[in-house]
Amino acid sequence: MRAVVYSEYGVTPVLTQVDDPVCPADGVVIAVGATGVCRSDWHAWKGHDPVPLPHIGGHEFAGAVTRAGSEVTRWRAGDRVTVPFACGCGRCEYCLAGDAQVCPRQTQPGFTGPGSFAEFVAVHAADANLVALPSSVDFVTAACLGCRFATAFRAVTAHGRVRAGDWLAVHGCGGVGLSAVLIGAALGARVVAVDVSAAALGRARELGAAAAVDAGTGDTGDTGDTGDTGDLAAVIGEVTGGGAHVSIDALGSPAVAAASVRCLRRRGRHIQVGLLPEGSVPLPMDLVIARELEIYGSHGMAARDYPAMMRLVADGTLRPGLLVGEVIGLEDAGRALAAMDGPGAMAGMTIVGLSQAATSGPE
Ligand SMILES: [Zn+2]
Ligand SMILES: [Zn+2]
Repeated sequence: MRAVVYSEYGVTPVLTQVDDPVCPADGVVIAVGATGVCRSDWHAWKGHDPVPLPHIGGHEFAGAVTRAGSEVTRWRAGDRVTVPFACGCGRCEYCLAGDAQVCPRQTQPGFTGPGSFAEFVAVHAADANLVALPSSVDFVTAACLGCRFATAFRAVTAHGRVRAGDWLAVHGCGGVGLSAVLIGAALGARVVAVDVSAAALGRARELGAAAAVDAGTGDTGDTGDTGDTGDLAAVIGEVTGGGAHVSIDALGSPAVAAASVRCLRRRGRHIQVGLLPEGSVPLPMDLVIARELEIYGSHGMAARDYPAMMRLVADGTLRPGLLVGEVIGLEDAGRALAAMDGPGAMAGMTIVGLSQAATSGPE
């Protein structure tokens, strides 16, 4: 098959002929229909997260099953599917409870093994990890769902329990933040977007944010705004009439995490989505007690929880396609990956489209 391969960190990946993946007994081989280019792929390519070399990246994909292993009971060739970016082992207590997102023996195509910048990709524990695509959801749209969008959906709905009319603060309007803005607004929440970039805030407004706050100046863009303060919590408190019901740190920094907790109204919920590579982070636990706040970490979303999201995509309530920037061919994937070294979120997601998924398969 053709695949986009790199043998050294930081050297532009090239389209190469490689062996087709072997089908695991408990897994499937999927003909990739579309696959997203994600900043996590870029981090792996740069060597920030070591991967086995030579390596094929790509973890946000959708396609058609071409082969199913002998132990697979739920899937067969021809099924249109996607998978979460972190796949569970399918056997541990967490997986059996449907919580593969916290499986201690996770595998991740594109990180722990070959990924989806290729014509075919293998997925282990298929019965636990595959998600059926409704016929109305095309591969490009589905490729948007597996990583940032599903992560944002779980943060907003499962942990945030956002209801129509609630104020949802989203700190950091990159890929996952803008997904949270889109999802919150589509579910009827009043979203206040927070970022230091005017372009990011503008994009958040286009996707449905009711208010936007410049995290650097406190400026809300309203006429007569004095843009006075470094006290972000006070500004958000003003905008929301007492604080956000739910607040998400979609960026991942100690200051942002603390600001997200501080901007909550009483009994509010903070969800940490942005990764914190620095390690442990101090939070204002005095406020957590006094205001009875809830603190959650959110890490992806298990296959079990996809159908609820998929229904909202299929009926048009959620429109992840709005997050797509450009669709490119597999031959351009290596260049697109290398070009992620810069502020690219405003341009939208880059999706690699392959047309072969419906028909061909490995011999
Ligand atoms: Zn990703
Ligand atoms: Zn497991």
